[in-house]
Amino acid sequence: MIATSEQFDLVVIGGGPGGYAAALYAASAGVKAALVEMDALGGTCLNRGCIPAKAFLETAAVHRHVAHAAEFGIETSAPAVNFAVTQARKNKIVAGLVGGIAAMCKGRKVEVFNGIGSLGPDRRVTVTALDGSTTEITGDSVILAAGSVPRLIPNFERGGPIMTSDEVLDLDHIPARMVVVGGGAIGCEFASTFADLGAAVTILEGLPKILPGLDNDLANVVVKSFKSKRIDIRTGVKVTGHTPNTAGGTTVHFGPEDHVEHLDVDVVVVSVGRRPFADRLGLDGTGVKVDERGFVVVDEFCRTGEDGVYAVGDLIDTPQLAHVGYAEAILAVKQTLGEDVVPVMYDRVPWAIYCHPEVAWAGLDEQQAKAAGYDVVVAKHPFKFNSRAQIVGETEGLAKIIAEKGADGRAGRVLGVHMVGPWVTEQLSGGYLAVNWEATVDEVAEFIQPHPSLSELFGETVMTLTGRNFNG
Ligand SMILES: Cc1cc2nc3c(=O)[nH]c(=O)nc-3n(C[C@H](O)[C@H](O)[C@H](O)COP(=O)(O)OP(=O)(O)OC[C@H]3O[C@@H](n4cnc5c(N)ncnc54)[C@H](O)[C@@H]3O)c2cc1C
Repeated sequence: MIATSEQFDLVVIGGGPGGYAAALYAASAGVKAALVEMDALGGTCLNRGCIPAKAFLETAAVHRHVAHAAEFGIETSAPAVNFAVTQARKNKIVAGLVGGIAAMCKGRKVEVFNGIGSLGPDRRVTVTALDGSTTEITGDSVILAAGSVPRLIPNFERGGPIMTSDEVLDLDHIPARMVVVGGGAIGCEFASTFADLGAAVTILEGLPKILPGLDNDLANVVVKSFKSKRIDIRTGVKVTGHTPNTAGGTTVHFGPEDHVEHLDVDVVVVSVGRRPFADRLGLDGTGVKVDERGFVVVDEFCRTGEDGVYAVGDLIDTPQLAHVGYAEAILAVKQTLGEDVVPVMYDRVPWAIYCHPEVAWAGLDEQQAKAAGYDVVVAKHPFKFNSRAQIVGETEGLAKIIAEKGADGRAGRVLGVHMVGPWVTEQLSGGYLAVNWEATVDEVAEFIQPHPSLSELFGETVMTLTGRNFNG
């Protein structure tokens, strides 16, 4: 039964970062927008991703601080974890942020529809509510932002000890033994969190190294640090199955056929990436195409094959990052407003991994720059000698900057800034600007960094590339 039919300037399907950013940004420009969400506003990022995972990591950081308090002259007993409190704190943060999005939608008169949105011809969207009732709305433009869900692997069905990021984030205790299948960014964040909180953690990674996309110098720092947390890193191994035990745990089987190994654990975190979730979008009778991997096909302007229909965020084959979803949302909305746009430059977006030690980068790493044919000059500085790093007691890590070598043999344009160490996710903005402004090292070296600060390391590394320095 069609209850109503309402016309909007813009209809957005999916209320995660891509979707809510599109609706709110459009509304701030005076657009009459509708936002269709079948679950909770905020999507993966707020409810099952970035925010809860970082809240857990912060608990792990507090645990580390307390454990090392004596080094700062603070006598305390050994820290004990009450993870139910951690969970409640995380839930409060999430609820506050989700409520904030709802309030912003209300304030900007974005109409929120609770239900599954499916797109038909002529930009008509049918919203099916939980009770089965349907509402039809139409947009002059439509943005698809249905996001992604965890990928699964054969023989590891969710349930009991087998978890994806969704279930791990609902844990109310620290498992004694945890195996993380997949050593990517999300897997490493969980490994880091639970190892710092006292779990015995093993990472099983099929590729030859964890964090495979990362510059080797940075990856080595993370591996060394993880080892000092007693995280057992097993690379080049394939998990084949598991045998549950009566105590609620399981034995994971992995390795080559002729040398299968077994690991008894309480929790298995399957962290092998995320797949796009176009499953409930309908799309029949439209020109929107979905490729063989499930991604909605778009051009560099996020335009689908259907006139006036865009797709953004994890639903399309671009970096699966909330802030990339924001950028794509803005790109799409500006086009609906008839404004000039330039495509998102995906090779220059900021990346951040919040494990301990943190990792952040923008632009090409050394291997990529060389593979792209650049003649490069590289400078590296460790946090070990940085005064603020010593003050905060976090001296592992480095800054590494890759610059294009000019005809005179000197370092010229900054191609990439890569950092690992304390709070580098908060320090990347200078490097991000340098890369995206296509600045030269001489230009960036003119800028003054505050002293004492962690960000001085970026300044010193840039200065070294000018051929001079006072701290190198
Ligand atoms: C553990 C974890 C940690 C992460 N950490 C970070 C991080 O630190 N930084 C970062 O940038 N990224 C991080 N990410 C990735 C980030 O969460 C995603 O890139 C981001 O959420 C994608 O936004 P999106 O809007 O495209 O999709 P989603 O956030 O997945 O939102 C899609 C929304 O659409 C809804 N939906 C789907 N189909 C329909 C339909 N037919 N009708 C109505 N609603 C529908 C879904 O219910 C969902 O709410 C992390 C992810 C995970 C899992």
